Amino acid sequence: MLLPAFEYHRPTGLAEAFEVLDHYAGKARVLAGGTDLLVNMKRKTVAPKQLVGLERVAELLGVRAGNGRIEIGARETAARLAGAGGIARDLGVLAMAAAKLGSPQVRNLATIGGNLCTARPAADMPLPLLVLDARVVLAGSAGEREVGLDAFFAGPGQTVAQPKEILTKVVIDRAEPGTGGGFVKLGLRRTLEIALVNAAALLTLDVDGKTIKKARVALGAVAPTPIRAPEAERVLLGKVASDELFAHAGEAAKQDARPITDHRGSATFRLEMVSVLTRRALHQAWENAREQ
Ligand SMILES: Cc1cc2nc3c(=O)[nH]c(=O)nc-3n(C[C@H](O)[C@H](O)[C@H](O)COP(=O)(O)OP(=O)(O)OC[C@H]3O[C@@H](n4cnc5c(N)ncnc54)[C@H](O)[C@@H]3O)c2cc1C
Repeated sequence: MLLPAFEYHRPTGLAEAFEVLDHYAGKARVLAGGTDLLVNMKRKTVAPKQLVGLERVAELLGVRAGNGRIEIGARETAARLAGAGGIARDLGVLAMAAAKLGSPQVRNLATIGGNLCTARPAADMPLPLLVLDARVVLAGSAGEREVGLDAFFAGPGQTVAQPKEILTKVVIDRAEPGTGGGFVKLGLRRTLEIALVNAAALLTLDVDGKTIKKARVALGAVAPTPIRAPEAERVLLGKVASDELFAHAGEAAKQDARPITDHRGSATFRLEMVSVLTRRALHQAWENAREQ
């Protein structure tokens, strides 16, 4: 499959990138790792005439911790995030999801910004970021704005980002002691597989090491966008952690999901898997929280 013809721009900084996007009145597309955009261009589902490559924009790199927050540059790859064990309590759940994305080759190219901007209902990195209450920073020549990730996804393949905006970074608050995360992905194959259902969980335990002070659950591939699971979270909050409680929360998570039937699986099967995967993700989160 050949790529259609296009002009390629290689800005060396964000200001120059915004100039190009403004010049083409939002008709130019940003290219990060290219693992999604170039594939779609080869399939001829999209045909942008102007591409703005971000590979020389250094402002989009780096993971920085300070002032109680962590900022992750949009161009950080899944491979680099999968190895972000240095700040395990904060980024452990993101590292787990990044490690499950595609193959080693894909992970070396695929960026966190690209994964969020594709807005696929089954994408892996939105789920840990939803349980971490992440925000994204969208910037353009007119300035920047911070948008909660739960408000960023507008539908399958759609976000609230404007065509002239670049997602520059992802921001999360540093985790409290006693916090741990879990991520579980189910595919038809063992590797190189987009999720049939995926789930992430984050638990913060009280000082007694047992009572759940904060609970977050997120689900993928069971609604038009990646979603939080408020019913499951309600079941968990303030209770003493146990396998029975996690099973109960897994059942409750079914009320949060709206899966469809497609060629990869039926809605009924997906709903059952929501329950199983939520329970497993919570169990992982519990184990990790007890170690912190
Ligand atoms: C073989 C294969 C396996 C895959 N497996 C998985 C998987 O298991 N899980 C999964 O979640 N995904 C998977 N993917 C999809 C893809 O790799 C990811 O979504 C990836 O994170 C996209 O990032 P990218 O940097 O390559 O984005 P690109 O392809 O460069 O861009 C994707 C889209 O985002 C826009 N964009 C990129 N960066 C920005 C930015 N900073 N600001 C504004 N817009 C931006 C682009 O304009 C484009 O519309 C797979 C893809 C392939 C080819």
